[in-house]
Amino acid sequence: MEIAVFSAKPYDREYLDAANAEAGHHLKYFEVPLDSTTVGLAAGHDAVCIFVNDRADAAVLEALGQGGTRLVALRCTGFNNVDLKAAQGLGIKVVRVVDYSPNSVAEHAVALLMAINRKIHRAYNRTRDFNFSLDGLMGFDMCGKTVAVIGTGKIGRVFARIMLGFGCNVIGYDKFPSPEFEALGARYAEPGEIGECADTISLHCPLTPGTHHIIDADMLSRAKRGALLINTSRGALIDTEAVIDALRSGQLGGLALDVYEQEAGLFFRDLSGTIITDDVLQRLITFPNVIVTGHQAFLTREAVTTICETTLRSVTEFETGKPLTNEVSAS
Ligand code: NAD
Repeated sequence: MEIAVFSAKPYDREYLDAANAEAGHHLKYFEVPLDSTTVGLAAGHDAVCIFVNDRADAAVLEALGQGGTRLVALRCTGFNNVDLKAAQGLGIKVVRVVDYSPNSVAEHAVALLMAINRKIHRAYNRTRDFNFSLDGLMGFDMCGKTVAVIGTGKIGRVFARIMLGFGCNVIGYDKFPSPEFEALGARYAEPGEIGECADTISLHCPLTPGTHHIIDADMLSRAKRGALLINTSRGALIDTEAVIDALRSGQLGGLALDVYEQEAGLFFRDLSGTIITDDVLQRLITFPNVIVTGHQAFLTREAVTTICETTLRSVTEFETGKPLTNEVSAS
């Protein structure tokens, strides 16, 4: 099939080309994201392959349909950027990558947590300048501390397992609790207890209307003073302005983000030579106890290989009229 690949980075090309050696589709790469201004590039392609910050809203989907596109293949797990109802109305199928490597994201969350706790980012900058002072680098033992996991699905459970290995007391909150989480040796807790007890909170639930700003001023005011917050899930789970206030007052002891509410248009691009007009991100970056990575938690060889192979397999299923294993539909 003819596939227009949007937001294509060098690593996308490398891994999609490798996976396509077997799949045999025709891939056309576009570095620009899919949106209302670029959708024309997809004309004549049976499928579009998109990523987290591409926009497949109703207008874009309508234009895709007019151009002959019948399949939207997300090369990611989240699908909050696709209007599923509009796609269904237009007869456009949507597939995603349900399961690639929960280890990739969970391990990155652990890396962020350890970096923010032990001030690795600050130490790295200091020692490059031969500054071996330890002032301001005090951390705390993870062993014996309470870690809260919000969203105990595939990634949350891997994260919990690693934290249990550190000797932490792991508590969780999920709208749909799973026995697998408890079988690890963790337990479920109500939001009130999470606020009171957690030394670290890590977010692993999807972004939905119910989880938008799940970390807001009220939740932060009830959190243990000095707690660390880690978000590798979706930016809008956090009310960023409220988090900045909590950092400023010391209520929040540290923040590590791989995702950001307004990341579209910023992340996945080299903007080092430009002036960033996003004042909220500017302020965040100035805090010594904040680390931001640019949505890279998924970026391991294992995860990207699986993402590319699964995406092209879904396209082949569509082409050959087979049931779509990874279809996501409006319900
Ligand atoms: P999953 O579906 O296995 O788990 C999500 C869990 O969240 C489920 O157990 C679900 O019941 C729970 N949940 C749903 N609504 C909730 C609510 N209101 N409150 C609490 N919990 C709720 O998904 P996963 O594979 O573990 O992925 C989790 C999230 O990680 C994805 O939705 C995505 O946003 C994010 N993610 C980020 C990256 C990255 O590179 N940073 C990569 C992949 C996934």
